[in-house]
Parts: sequence; structure tokens; C-alpha cells
Amino acid sequence: MTKRTGRRRIMHLAASFFSIIVFLFLVGSSGYLLLSHPKTPLPDHWNPLRDLTVTAPVTLVTKFQLNRALADEAQCRATLSEAGVTFSRMEDLVIDQNCGISGRGELSGLVSTRVRGVETRCTTALRLAMWEHHVVQPAARDVLGTDVRALRHLGSYNCRRMRTAQGQDGRWSSHATADSVDIAGVDLADGRTLSLLQDWNATGPDAAFLRRIGQGACDWFRVVLSPNFNRLHADHFHLQGPGWGYCR
Ligand SMILES: [Zn+2]
Repeated sequence: MTKRTGRRRIMHLAASFFSIIVFLFLVGSSGYLLLSHPKTPLPDHWNPLRDLTVTAPVTLVTKFQLNRALADEAQCRATLSEAGVTFSRMEDLVIDQNCGISGRGELSGLVSTRVRGVETRCTTALRLAMWEHHVVQPAARDVLGTDVRALRHLGSYNCRRMRTAQGQDGRWSSHATADSVDIAGVDLADGRTLSLLQDWNATGPDAAFLRRIGQGACDWFRVVLSPNFNRLHADHFHLQGPGWGYCR
């Protein structure tokens, strides 16, 4: 290789490197413009820079939007209120380092179902609203041909340690910070009530519906324990926001 062809090759490499940088810059900035422009043609539920709307269709960016709303109490409350969820603000409950509720409120209605008033934190209410709207109602319509009128719960906040089938565990329960809620069943628009205790082990559409909403809860909560887990959960789903990911 002569000196001149060597230099030409270096020039050529530098030119292609430069054009790749320019290309990436153009793609990046037009991508950013597409996302951030106020009149972008991209729908909000496909735009990671936009805030979560509970009732919008679920897309690849929904989890990303949800995580942002979960991390910001003001946004969490605004998202619930926009969706028509009744979550009345309460002062934070401060007990000690193990127990208390931050982002506290009283939840008494989700997007389209009633809930007997329950004190919980905003993040738990938001996950519950996503589950209700995207899992529970569609499953009721598909499997049972009716709507869910109310969710029956067994409470959220409880300053206690974890319970296991072997007895009490030393660790604190996620209920001690209202990061969980226990759901016992549903009231249907056709006047019937389904409970995990009575209907989980049955055959037919009622049990199929309960199994489907239990499985679907894993999309919106990191830890979900059903009657399949152990006898302590025979009468409820334990739906827990934070955790390592466990669905049973
Ligand atoms: Zn629980």
C-alpha cells in the first residue's frame, strides 16, 4: 500500500464516520421532535414523553408511563382524578420506619366500579385502577357477558409483620405501608356476587373469570398471591405493588 492510498483510505473512513454521526443526529433529533412537538401525530399512549391515561389502550410505552406516574405523587393523583377514580386526599400517616402511608388517600371508586372506602396509598390505587379497567372489566364482559359493579376488598393498610403458612415471619408486610390490597371478590351487574372462597375451585365461567383476573393482575402488580399459593390466601388475591416479581 502506497502512502497516498493509505491516506485516501483514512479520509474515506473519516468521511463515512462523519456521515454516520450526522445521520444518527438527524434520526435522534427528528425522533425527539416527533415525540415532543405539541402537534405530534403520535398518539399520547404511544408517546413515552406524555403522561399516563388510565383508560387509554395499553401499548409498549404504557409501563414506562405508569412507572413515571408511580414515582411522582402529584402525577399519580392527577392521573387518578382524570380517570374519574375517587381517591380523596388524606394527610400522610407517619408511625415509624416500618409502618405508615405516604401518598395517602381514601379510595371509594375506580374507573367504573365501586369500592367500599379503603385507606391506601396513591400507587396502590393507580395499579388497582389499571387492573380494573384493563383486566377485570374486559374479562367480565368476555367470560360472563356482564359488567363488574363493585370490587370487594379486605383492606390495604395494616401495620403488621408478614404471615406465612408456617406462622409469623420476622419481616414486615407490604400492608404495613399500604403497598398491597387484598381483593376477596366482585359484585356483578347481573346481581350476583363471586367470591374467591366460594368460586375459585368451581368449574365453569365463574371460576374461569376469577382465574383470568388473578393471572391478569400480574401485569399491574409485581407480587400476586391467589388461593393457589397457600391456605392463607384461600379467600383473597394479595395484590402488591413493589417486589421481586411473583405471580401465583
Ligand atoms: Zn395481602
